[in-house]
Amino acid sequence: MIDAGELRTRTRALLEAHPPATTDRADFLKARFDAGLAWVHYPEGLGGLGAPRSLQAVVDAELEAAGAPDNDPRRIGIGLGMAAPTVLGFGTEEQKQRFLRPLWTGEEVWCQLFSEPGAGSDLAALGTRAVRDAESGDWVVNGQKVWTSSAHTARWAILIARTDPDLPKHRGITYFVCDMTDPGVEVRPLRQITGEAEFNEVFLTDVRVPDAHRLGEVGEGWKVAQTTLMNERVSIGGMRIPREGGMIGPVAKAWRDRPELRTHDLHQRLLKLWVDAEVARLTGERLRQQLVAGQPGPEGSGMKLGFARLNQEISGLEVELLGEEGLLYDDWTMRRPELVDFVGREAGYRYLRSKGNSIEGGTSEVLLNIVAERVLGLPAEPRTDKDVAWKDLAR
Ligand SMILES: Cc1cc2nc3c(=O)[nH]c(=O)nc-3n(C[C@H](O)[C@H](O)[C@H](O)COP(=O)(O)OP(=O)(O)OC[C@H]3O[C@@H](n4cnc5c(N)ncnc54)[C@H](O)[C@@H]3O)c2cc1C
Repeated sequence: MIDAGELRTRTRALLEAHPPATTDRADFLKARFDAGLAWVHYPEGLGGLGAPRSLQAVVDAELEAAGAPDNDPRRIGIGLGMAAPTVLGFGTEEQKQRFLRPLWTGEEVWCQLFSEPGAGSDLAALGTRAVRDAESGDWVVNGQKVWTSSAHTARWAILIARTDPDLPKHRGITYFVCDMTDPGVEVRPLRQITGEAEFNEVFLTDVRVPDAHRLGEVGEGWKVAQTTLMNERVSIGGMRIPREGGMIGPVAKAWRDRPELRTHDLHQRLLKLWVDAEVARLTGERLRQQLVAGQPGPEGSGMKLGFARLNQEISGLEVELLGEEGLLYDDWTMRRPELVDFVGREAGYRYLRSKGNSIEGGTSEVLLNIVAERVLGLPAEPRTDKDVAWKDLAR
């Protein structure tokens, strides 16, 4: 098994062969992937070396110190956080070879075609149909998806669709990779409370998806989707951040820089939230260490829950601290951002955007259900639709 010393040696060799100062960004990233230093815990030949996940930090530190470009993980979060572990877990060798390298380098952006009008929290109720064409073997997909972040920049999508409506809702779903440039894929912007359109509606009309782009077995899509969803919660709630690096940073700065705004009550609340933010940050670290041992578990749901609550409380406190100034908004022009930049914008933006944190990636109420059932072992919600064919469900 590769150790930290060996990884350091390999990283220095990469830097020597491709000096960041004189190497094109994309070329450097490709070379890094090919050297197995992209995600070291992935298999050899797929950007990794089969090393413990925790050793990634050794590589990252060396590269950062040398001023090497990173692959802008926030911009390509859905690909990295959700599509990649699913392709790795369920893809064929051919699919892994095709998709993982450009996904990691950011040459190909991914989006997630899961939610539908009428199938959000109850995702297994989804109605987008995929029907097999007997002649070509392709799947013909029809339906509507909604809240699709980054669909306007994405080349590929992870897509779940119903392939057998005669089975109960959790069965008869199949998981695909959909080419967003294919005929029949229509992306329409949806403007959010922040004024910007970071997500979209996606209409799928007779989209042909080759069977070679199916992930996992026909009808096993729910199982595959679980891998995506568990990784999604970790990727939303468990991003690595330095101390005061998240939402708490701008508030702490405003507190230090603007003594005239201080009150005793705000001080008490800021201290409490600062401690909560630090606890959340360290819990995220622990979660990442647990991941070394395998797939994320229900802890990811707890982490995501805490992240959403904290972001909303901190951004609320910031607006209160800044008073009228906190209500000013920097720019209402319609825009199509490639990433959500929490700290690069005004307090009003943070306040409004953090509202989505308790909805995206699974609502807080549903995550509480998961924690209640899978962590605390409390009785499950009654499910009357468990054994009823999807086509017979009331809609
Ligand atoms: C910023 C943002 C980005 C998103 N990006 C994507 C994306 O890229 N791709 C994608 O596929 N989806 C995306 N989503 C969609 C998101 O996953 C869904 O909005 C979410 O799953 C909730 O579904 P819903 O909106 O249909 O609400 P509903 O499921 O209709 O829920 C409405 C309310 O009922 C509550 N509720 C529902 N069921 C239960 C229950 N069993 N117990 C208790 N309370 C319950 C919910 O918590 C919520 O408060 C995004 C959402 C946001 C806000």
